[in-house]
Amino acid sequence: MTIKPRKRSARPSALKLLARNHLALMGAVIFAGVIILALITPWLPLVNPDATDPANRLLPPLSDGHFLGTDHLGRDLLSRLLWGTRVSLAVGISASLFAAFFGSAIGIISGYFGGRTDNIMMRGIDMVMAFPYILLALAIVAALGPGLMNALYAIAVVNIPFFARNIRGVTVGIVHREFVDSARLSGKGHIRILLSEILPNVMPVIVITMSTTVGWMILETAGLSFLGLGAQPPQADLGSMLGEGRKLITTALHLSAIPGGMIFVLVMSINLLGDGIRDILDPRLKSGALARPAPVTRIDRSTWDGPAHAGSGHVNGQPGAKRDAEKGAILSVEDLRTEFVLGDDVYKAVGGVSFHVGRNECVGLVGESGSGKSVTALSLLGLVASPPGTIAGGRVMLDGRDVFDMHEQEIRAIRGGRAAYVFQDPLSTLHPLFSVGDQLVEAIRAHNRVSYKEAWQKAVELLRMVRIPNPEKRADSYPHQLSGGMRQRVGIAMALANEPELIIADEPTTALDVTVQAQILKLMNNLREQHGTSVLFITHDFGVVSEICDRVAVMYAGQIVEMGTTQQVLENPAHPYTKRLIDCVPRLGETAREIAAIPGLPPAVNDLPVGCAFADRCDRAADACRAGAIDLDPLGDGHAVRCIKPMEVRHA
Ligand code: ADP
Ligand code: MG
Repeated sequence: MTIKPRKRSARPSALKLLARNHLALMGAVIFAGVIILALITPWLPLVNPDATDPANRLLPPLSDGHFLGTDHLGRDLLSRLLWGTRVSLAVGISASLFAAFFGSAIGIISGYFGGRTDNIMMRGIDMVMAFPYILLALAIVAALGPGLMNALYAIAVVNIPFFARNIRGVTVGIVHREFVDSARLSGKGHIRILLSEILPNVMPVIVITMSTTVGWMILETAGLSFLGLGAQPPQADLGSMLGEGRKLITTALHLSAIPGGMIFVLVMSINLLGDGIRDILDPRLKSGALARPAPVTRIDRSTWDGPAHAGSGHVNGQPGAKRDAEKGAILSVEDLRTEFVLGDDVYKAVGGVSFHVGRNECVGLVGESGSGKSVTALSLLGLVASPPGTIAGGRVMLDGRDVFDMHEQEIRAIRGGRAAYVFQDPLSTLHPLFSVGDQLVEAIRAHNRVSYKEAWQKAVELLRMVRIPNPEKRADSYPHQLSGGMRQRVGIAMALANEPELIIADEPTTALDVTVQAQILKLMNNLREQHGTSVLFITHDFGVVSEICDRVAVMYAGQIVEMGTTQQVLENPAHPYTKRLIDCVPRLGETAREIAAIPGLPPAVNDLPVGCAFADRCDRAADACRAGAIDLDPLGDGHAVRCIKPMEVRHA
């Protein structure tokens, strides 16, 4: 096996993400410009900002030698503006750092230790917050005496509670998480846990809070100076300049308009930049553009050239046979392609998948973790998060209509109605704050106009149907009061709420123990018999497949590599991958049999090989396997394989 050089990380860099947000980029550029100006002010050929010149009072902008004019004492406005901006920036940023440091320290310590420490610290913070907060700042300056440093302290102190409250909230949220417990178990002391486990996790929140308060603090400093409590004459800062200009606003507007404009530009640019920084630091936004996921996956089939090249669609042997089998199918998927675009990389998570699910049929989708099963399932009703997901091609025919041609509202009506999902982890899909009965009622009422009472009765009926003991009482339970198996059954009940024709179950039994798994499988089999429901059952377990599926499709690296009835595939696997997957299943009583793990790892879907994706892990691979795309070839009787050197198949 050749080792390819590691590709660059696919996640766009922070700078790139910032550049994508035009407003934030504009803010960054303007803010950087102001900072640079403030930094180089001492070296600029400016006159002394405090030098008075009564002969040249109140000159308008663009006067000779005074680009921005002069003030009521004849001082050069440009010089005062630049020096003043420097002072305002320094005070605002220092106050912000000061507040961030002490506020975060208080927040982390009280959140981490909890109990009495938390109580005392937070009540102290509450006391500070109980005063109207600009009044408090005024009171502090009044007590300390006017002056720039005292204004800085006052602004910092009144802002400490914002940091303390925010950071305490985040800390409380992570202090009981497993990684903190495990750090404690490994013998780390409080200080090391605070510094190495807690701090890195709250850092983004500190930075975000800071980025949104710096602008605010500059405004507050300007406010205090405006009232004469900050910078003292003759020192200029933006607020005191504005205060002096106010007295002459009718005769010399530029005296107040110029510092006012500078405050506006500065605060605006900082806030825009702050928003951008917040978006970048939010990990859910890191992988894609700066937007919320759309309600329906983005569909862009412009590069798709129709149902792909001969072969891949014809899973049932002859095209004619395929038509017959698919005519009555509830779900028919043709050449489905779903991609994730991350930076410069395109991850082809689903690369041309075709299959159908007949009425009252259960089709299994099997494959290793990461082979694209979940993305396939989610694509069917446009549930893949976009960005970064895009449906780049294919058709999903639900009862003869292309889902991707439907309007968003139509798709929404199908979800949970005619087609329902059951997910792997019922604890994370059930709402923790509502009783399961209420959640079932919500699911029922999303699609039917029935009264709450009727819906509640139906909810109890559903719980009975999925064999929850004592359903009348259990409907009042919250998810955390149920066992894992019961929660999964609630998940199934929810999927059944509106008598779906198709259930898409994504590893519904993976988190369960074998006895509960057996009950769930039996339940699903009963549902099929009694209600004629069709099921697309996703699993990585061939044992489960043999219990419930009529047909099975084996997925590898985003493609179906083998397809057939459960018996064909389990007894006569044609693809070497299928064979090895089946060999991985341990069997009771066969202790001597060595479990054959498949060597190597599946290929990355952003860098798929030209030919067979499994070739590098296959002991039958030849040069021809790597030469070009390989079609899904029929073997007869609906059995098909994507392999040019399939295992020997003996059909009965
Ligand atoms: P599985 O077969 O285990 O269900 P998935 O369908 O979840 O696998 O994933 C298939 C591929 O798609 C994986 O390589 C995974 O990394 C990628 N993938 C899934 N979701 C996302 C996402 N939101 N962003 C980027 N890549 C994703
Ligand atoms: Mg999955």
